[in-house]
Parts: sequence; C-alpha cells; structure tokens
Amino acid sequence: MTTLGPAERRRYSRHLALPEIGIEGQSRLKGARVLVVGAGGLGCPAALYLAAAGVGTLGLLDCDSVDESNLQRQILFGSQDVGAPKVDRARERLRQLNPEIRLVAHAVELCAANVGEIFSSYELIVDGSDRVATRYLVNDACVIYRKSLVSAAIYRFEGQAMSYAPDRGPCYRCLFPQPSEGVVPNCEQAGVLGVLPGVLGAIQATETIKLLLGIGDPLLGRLLTYDALSLSFHEFRIARRADCAVCGEHPSITRPQDPLGFCTVEEQRRVRRISAPELAEQLDRAVLTLIDVREPAEFAYGHLPGAINLPLAQIEQQGLTLPHEATTIFMCRSGVRSLKACALARRAGVREPLQLEGGLLAWKAMVEPSFHV
Ligand SMILES: [Zn+2]
Repeated sequence: MTTLGPAERRRYSRHLALPEIGIEGQSRLKGARVLVVGAGGLGCPAALYLAAAGVGTLGLLDCDSVDESNLQRQILFGSQDVGAPKVDRARERLRQLNPEIRLVAHAVELCAANVGEIFSSYELIVDGSDRVATRYLVNDACVIYRKSLVSAAIYRFEGQAMSYAPDRGPCYRCLFPQPSEGVVPNCEQAGVLGVLPGVLGAIQATETIKLLLGIGDPLLGRLLTYDALSLSFHEFRIARRADCAVCGEHPSITRPQDPLGFCTVEEQRRVRRISAPELAEQLDRAVLTLIDVREPAEFAYGHLPGAINLPLAQIEQQGLTLPHEATTIFMCRSGVRSLKACALARRAGVREPLQLEGGLLAWKAMVEPSFHV
C-alpha cells in the first residue's frame, strides 16, 4: 500500500482525523487515478477539491483556451490567463495548490478514436463537459471499459448530478437513451449563474472521494437535481433499463462511437463565415445556394427568397448531397446550428460552404429590419 510522508500527514491531517478516511483512506486517495473531462465551470471546482484532497494522479482534459467570459465561473483561471490553453494554466494552478500529486494535461478533444487510450490510464472519470455529444461518449466509454463515472450538467439556474459504477446501477443512457443535441443549449447560448457549477462541481468531487473510498451512499441509481433560485434539491430514483443500448442485456453499442452528426470543435472553428451585409451584396450578383437549417415552422414564419429548408437534424441523420458548383451558404436563427451544418457539409465534400455569421438575427439587425425571424 502507498504510504504517506511527514508533509502529507500534515497536509491531510483533517482527513486523517476522520475515521471514515484515516491513513488507509488517504493512502487510497494517493493511489487513485482520476480524469476530469472539461476544465470549465464544473471541472474547475471539481479539480481544485480533488487536488486539495490528495488524489494522487489527476488528469485534466480540455482543448480550449481561456476566454474572458469564462472567468465568471471557471475559478482555476484569472485575468492573466485569457488566451492561454486551459489545461496548461489549470495544471500550474493545481500544482501551486498541491505539489504532492501528479498532474496530467490532455490538450485534446475527446472522440471515439482516442477515448479508449486516454481512459485506460484512469479508474474514475469526472464528466464536466458541456457538450451533449461528449456526455454520451464518456458514458458509453465508462460502461464499455468498466470505469466509474461522476457526471453533472448545468443549465441557467439548475443543475443535476449522477454517478455510475460498473455493475452498480443504471448509466446515463438508461435515463436519457438518445442524445438530443441542438435542443439543449450550452452556457454560451443559454447563460448560467456563475456560482451554479461551483455547487455541482463540489458535489462531483464529493462523489468521487466517496466512490474511491467506498464510503457513504453515492448517487448510484439516483439523479440529484438542484434549483438555485428556490435553493432546493430533489432526488429521482432511476432504474436500470434491460434494453439500454450500452449497459443493457443485449447492448447494441459495444465500442465507443461518435453520435450521428458529431463534428469536432476544431471542425467548427475552421468554417468560413459571411456577414449579413456581405451576403446582401452577393445575393444580387452571384449564383448562390441558400440552405436554411432551421425547423420547418421557423422557416415558414420568414426566410430569405430562394432559400431551401433543410433542418439540421435531417442533415445529421441523412447526410447532405448538393450540387458542388454553386457557393453554398448555411443559415439559422443565431448561427449555432448553421455552424454545425457547415462543418458537416465540408466533411461531405461541399467545397467551401459559408455560414451566415450571427444568423438571420444579424440579417434583421443589419440588412432588413422588417424581416420576420
Ligand atoms: Zn444504461
């Protein structure tokens, strides 16, 4: 068993005083290997508490850089970190907090191709990702590779948390069988109370420690919800589904897979944009194919002349075939769905598709005030 040196005994003395932890439990934490997926609102407080608690090997996975708008809730970072890779700054900050532990930075985006290798170095995964696609990938990989998982999600003033352990209780897919990305907006679109992920991230750290030590009653088969406005917690019992696609009796998902229509952040970053005024100019003199990726009801309310309605969900499920000679411009209400559609179009071989920057809201604001959107 791992032993503790004099400095560690001083550092962790308040843990050692707890009969539920003691020398044995603290040594177990020292030998533990935990990966935090996402160094965002949830990952920051979770990683801070896990590092402080003495989790011996702590991995952090995130491919983003620090943005000024992150500082309202991502408490590993300060103003001086804006623009720097998140995992690098997070590692520095955590090393200052606890030089006794080993910190591993993964500056990559998690996908079906790399999840197996990355997870193989860890026994427990803390999911702090804000992408629905990543949440399902992490869940499926934890079931398939038999890792414990502590997941949480946040939305405006509300949060939820749930744990999974191999052979103990249901998985995230038992609760929500299918991803419905595009329906659940992330923080950028929906907004979030800055302190909210602090509460949920601290719950994730608590659950992680309990699962590692085998103490207490973890959130297995229980979904905990938190409402900051009413300051109330609720709990829902969840049963394991015999027909679950990944943890059920006859699973159809036996290898991690990227969800339909999954495109990486990097792919979305590479998409070329066109501004509303530029599009107005081009409309008069170029041959353009305009693809409106909103839902039919939104399209019926108002659309650009000549635009074709092809909802994003349909593109995700059926792919895309387009004549390649015309310039193709994708648009939606605010620019989120069209960015994805554009990335998928590029992958499908459409040459240089363009995305209407800011969506039809920008069109209304800058070009045509009477436009219905
Ligand atoms: Zn399941």
